[in-house]
Amino acid sequence: MAEPRAWIVIGGGPAGLLAARRLAGAGHSVTVLEAEDHLGGRVSRVRVDGLDLDAGAESFATRGGHVEALVRELGLSDRLVAPAGGPAWVVGPEREYPMPAAGWLGIPTASFAPDVVRALGVKGALRAAVERWIPREPVEPDAMLGEVARRRLGDAAVDRLIAPVTRGIFSRPVDELRVDAAAAGLAAEISEMGLTRAAARRRAKAPAGSAVLGLVGGVAGLTDALAADAVSCGAHILTSTVVTSLREDRGRWQVRTADGTLVADEVVVASSRPAAAALVPQVRRAPDRQVALVTLSLDAPELDSHPRGSGVLAIDGVTRAKALTHATAKWEWVAKAAPDRHIVRLSYALDSAEDLAPHALADASRLLGVPLRDAQVRDLVQVVWHDASPTKPGDREPVPGLHLVGAAAGFSGLAAIVDDDQRSTLGV
Ligand SMILES: Cc1cc2nc3c(=O)[nH]c(=O)nc-3n(C[C@H](O)[C@H](O)[C@H](O)COP(=O)(O)OP(=O)(O)OC[C@H]3O[C@@H](n4cnc5c(N)ncnc54)[C@H](O)[C@@H]3O)c2cc1C
Repeated sequence: MAEPRAWIVIGGGPAGLLAARRLAGAGHSVTVLEAEDHLGGRVSRVRVDGLDLDAGAESFATRGGHVEALVRELGLSDRLVAPAGGPAWVVGPEREYPMPAAGWLGIPTASFAPDVVRALGVKGALRAAVERWIPREPVEPDAMLGEVARRRLGDAAVDRLIAPVTRGIFSRPVDELRVDAAAAGLAAEISEMGLTRAAARRRAKAPAGSAVLGLVGGVAGLTDALAADAVSCGAHILTSTVVTSLREDRGRWQVRTADGTLVADEVVVASSRPAAAALVPQVRRAPDRQVALVTLSLDAPELDSHPRGSGVLAIDGVTRAKALTHATAKWEWVAKAAPDRHIVRLSYALDSAEDLAPHALADASRLLGVPLRDAQVRDLVQVVWHDASPTKPGDREPVPGLHLVGAAAGFSGLAAIVDDDQRSTLGV
């Protein structure tokens, strides 16, 4: 093993805890500094109507198998669960329809399937079908997905299927989403084979079974287990400790907090991207987009039939919310924990702080297609997350001895973060 060194990890979300566990396991001295009074970052819990629910992330992508392998390694395999099957619904100004079964990122791959015709109408489905015969064109990675898809598939497919999906995932309009930000390498595939065939190939490559999994009790259980494992490997974790500045001095790092200055040989920055940019001048600042999640606990037997399956994507302008998850329909463990009520989670894209409570019930009623009254609300909790949109992974060690991981490095989602940890750029 390399000479043990003193490391400080800034941020106790999944990326910071993975780094701490890796470094401590390799025999280094590790201290994690976390600003909040709890660990987990966007993979932590919130209490709603007496239940502990996921406050941010609620599932993980199964692609690559890395998160599932980690879950097993941490002894949590008996908690792995798939969400309830069935498509998400889309609610638009004039119609509601289930997302077509055959498609990828909202791009329909069987243009004349009845569910595509239901969503697009005959004319829209016909227009989308023509794409296979439109001559190939070179597509640049920086081209906007909306523009390319409008040209090739028509407006109906973009506005009714692709836009609600990409807005739900990336928190930005499809006309402002770069093709390769939607999926790395997609531009080259569209250039080579067209959009429908590229989507069909991506879809065929997806492994059988659920594209996402969760954990009974919530995916926050993963960060609990990572923290426990990091501590058992010897890492020290300090919560309620905000790092205010970083300075390199003759090959060592001075890490300043309100309680004093700590010194380390190497530093891992595992905060959000805006927080990393505030600490490290070499990190490019990105716009601070925010996502607010409003969780409602409802006395609403009229939702027992799960009228919109496990969730709904809203077409821009129909509601302030961009999506809704019917958590008691989607996750059996939530339904068991809340047998006499319904838990519904709405997500909103925000440019600045805003209280969404006045919109939440009306948005839930519209998206679920069921009138709901104030008297049915048992509890309502809003959580706001900064740094909602992924950036391009950039330089991992902008200054010698200073390492970026997770969101600070431009990664988004547990699958990408765990995969990156396994390729470790930390030298252990
Ligand atoms: C609403 C929402 C839903 C999501 N859903 C999913 C999902 O279902 N599945 C999925 O895979 N991904 C999901 N994601 C993305 C996923 O949560 C993130 O990719 C992941 O949490 C990033 O991990 P991280 O450790 O890099 O950063 P974070 O989880 O943001 O953790 C960063 C930590 O750094 C701390 N920190 C920041 N500044 C400082 C400082 N100056 N000093 C000390 N500590 C500091 C923060 O308090 C925080 O605890 C979702 C994200 C959001 C916002």
